[in-house]
Amino acid sequence: MEDCIFCNIEKSRIVMEERDFFIIRDAFPVTDLHTLIISKRHVCSFFELTGSEINNYSQILTKCRTDLLDQDPLISGFNVGFNDGIDAGQTVMHCHVHIIPRRRGDAKNPRGGVRGVIQEKQNY
Ligand code: AMP
Ligand code: ZN
Repeated sequence: MEDCIFCNIEKSRIVMEERDFFIIRDAFPVTDLHTLIISKRHVCSFFELTGSEINNYSQILTKCRTDLLDQDPLISGFNVGFNDGIDAGQTVMHCHVHIIPRRRGDAKNPRGGVRGVIQEKQNY
């Protein structure tokens, strides 16, 4: 896909690689070390991945978490997930999962986490 940002990432930006995925740091991080797990195969949606790819995803997810915790001992939690479709906020139409490290006190009230996609519904 010649006009896809993630199909054309410079190799030097890859911080970890597995059979079916690679990892880069987000260019516009929500928190320090905000990371993206990106499929090597160009598909728009996580739901287009095969079972074998999803198995490989779970391996790289675990390695990514361990690596982030090693890099920053202040990390005390994570928000992990993906925006699936334009209406859900997806802006790069190539499958990727956000790994957003969290640290105590980085938000006034973190309660509800990903519920914040609809801001007024975050805190229940
Ligand atoms: P989404 O909105 O879920 O599709 O997420 C796309 C993510 O890609 C956003 O968090 C952007 O900050 C990030 N992003 C966009 N362009 C680049 C880039 N060239 N390198 C790294 N991350 C990028
Ligand atoms: Zn792509």
